[in-house]
Amino acid sequence: MVVYRNEISHQWERRMLLARWHRGSVKRDEICDADFLLVTAARFHGVPAGAPCPICDSEELRVVQWIHGEQLGRMSGTARSTEEIEQIAGTGREVTVHTVEVCPVCRWNHLLKAVTATAG
Ligand SMILES: [Zn+2]
Repeated sequence: MVVYRNEISHQWERRMLLARWHRGSVKRDEICDADFLLVTAARFHGVPAGAPCPICDSEELRVVQWIHGEQLGRMSGTARSTEEIEQIAGTGREVTVHTVEVCPVCRWNHLLKAVTATAG
């Protein structure tokens, strides 16, 4: 049994950034800057976002979960599936999960939420 706590949503920042982009006060290449690692992780470990990319309208938009934590050793800073995260947290280690949406087409990326997973 795994519990998720300390959830911090970043949807507001995302909306504000997209509003700035629509107004033309921020350039596309300033917000579509996912690096190779992030795009690759989204392709192989991500799941479909269920909505088109807010920038280029691509259906390829994906959501990927990155894990971080002092108790994770080399696993910290890697992309993981929900099953893997629950397995790791289930062993008693604290896992910080960053959910990021990534578009492999235009390289738009944004943090959606951060949450801490622990054994319940
Ligand atoms: Zn896109």
